[in-house]
Amino acid sequence: MFQTPLNCGADISLCSLTKYVGGHSDLIGGSISGSANLVKQVMSWRSAIGTQLDPNSCWMLMRSLETHEIRMTRSNDNARLVAEYLAGHPKIAKVHYLGFLKDGDPRKTVFDRQCTAPGSTFAFDVRGGEREAFALLDHLQIMKLAVSLGGTETLISHPASMTHSGVARELREAIGLTDALIRISVGIENVEDLISDFAQGLEHV
Ligand SMILES: *Cc1c(COP(=O)(O)O)cnc(C)c1O
Repeated sequence: MFQTPLNCGADISLCSLTKYVGGHSDLIGGSISGSANLVKQVMSWRSAIGTQLDPNSCWMLMRSLETHEIRMTRSNDNARLVAEYLAGHPKIAKVHYLGFLKDGDPRKTVFDRQCTAPGSTFAFDVRGGEREAFALLDHLQIMKLAVSLGGTETLISHPASMTHSGVARELREAIGLTDALIRISVGIENVEDLISDFAQGLEHV
C-alpha cells in the first residue's frame, strides 16, 4: 500500500499476500500485477502447473482486503510512536526505522521517490549484546516472540538466533545483523499497551 512498483515504472509487480494483505497470520499467497499481456502469460502457466490458490485462502483474502487500508494505516501510525519511544530510551543504542532517514542520505532519496510511508516492520539495537536482547525479549508480556510480520498482532524476533542463525557470524556482523539486533513488526493494538510493554521489559535489561 505504501510502495506501488507499477507507479514507479515496473512492468510487473510481485507481492506477498502472506503478510500485510492477509494480515491475520493465517494464509499464504502471492499476487502478480501488470499489463494484461504480461499477466495473461503467467495465468496460462499457472493453469498448466496448478498453482491456483485454494478456495479457503481466497475467502480469507477477501475478508482481509476489507480492512487492509485500516490495518496498514493503524500499524504504520503505531510503529512511528513505538520507534520514537525506543529512540528516546537510554537502553536502546539505535533504531533502524525508515521514518528516521535524514535528508542527504541516499536511502532517503530512494525512500521519498518510491514510498509514501515507512510501514511497521523495523529493527533496533539494544545497548549490549545477546544477553541484553534476550533479557528484553524474555520479559515482554504483550508482544509475541515469533518471526512472521504484517499481522494484526505485534511480533518480535531475534534475527541472529532465529531467521538468520544459519548466516556466518562474520557476515552477520559486517551487515549490522549483530547479537544486539531485534526485529519488530508492529500490529494494530493500542499503542500505549505496546509502549508500556517495552517500558517494563527494558527494566529487566
Ligand atoms: C513470510 C512467511 C512465509 C512465506 O510467505 P511468502 O508469501 O512466500 O513471502 C511463510 N510462512 C510464514 C509464517 C511467513 O511469515
